[in-house]
Amino acid sequence: MNRLYNALQLKRLYQLKHLGFRYVPMIQKRTGASTVLPDDLQSLRNMVSDCMLCGLGKSRTKPVFGEGDPHASLMFVGEGPGAQEDTTGRPFVGRAGELLTKMIENGLEIPRSSVYIANIVKCRPPNNRVPTPEEAYTCLPYLMKQIEIVAPKVIVALGATAYHYLTGDKSGISKVRGEVIDRGSYVLVPTYHPSYLLRNPSAKKEVYQDLLKIKRLLCENC
Ligand code: SF4
Repeated sequence: MNRLYNALQLKRLYQLKHLGFRYVPMIQKRTGASTVLPDDLQSLRNMVSDCMLCGLGKSRTKPVFGEGDPHASLMFVGEGPGAQEDTTGRPFVGRAGELLTKMIENGLEIPRSSVYIANIVKCRPPNNRVPTPEEAYTCLPYLMKQIEIVAPKVIVALGATAYHYLTGDKSGISKVRGEVIDRGSYVLVPTYHPSYLLRNPSAKKEVYQDLLKIKRLLCENC
């Protein structure tokens, strides 16, 4: 019952945030439990490591909180952990992760450690399926808090799922890829997910164009 209450509160917080409301420090008590998310990454990570708010918590090996520079100007957001991420607890460490690292280090010419990398859901969906809306909306407040704490200038949405849950727009990724979308405190640039590039290498040239655009945006914002 308490778990359901917490899930509903987190979902409600996200909906309010999406409508333009900001989080404010407050304590909401019910049977002694607080629904406020902490303002530092380590405490938030600890909260995620114990989280069982959606069904993905039951099947995960390790939650994948995210990693990188806590003051990064650039953040990448993917869909969710895969098999290797689930085993290691780190984001983008499989083949798609190797490609993302190349995109960052060769395309943007910055070290991977200088960016922040996270996902829409922190726990692996079984068989790498797309997270359900319930799973995504339940987990999303954690990502929103990470964005608030890290405060990047540019966020790159990797693939349709990340773009959809960061904007509420269900447009296909091929339609919106490469756009620069003003989100107030940051700009969002959607591009293809590295897993898609592994299956469709010919799309790498479009991503290269997106990386050039991201590089320019970072220079403008530095
Ligand atoms: S996916 Fe997110 S909401 Fe679901 S159990 Fe994992 S951390 Fe919690």
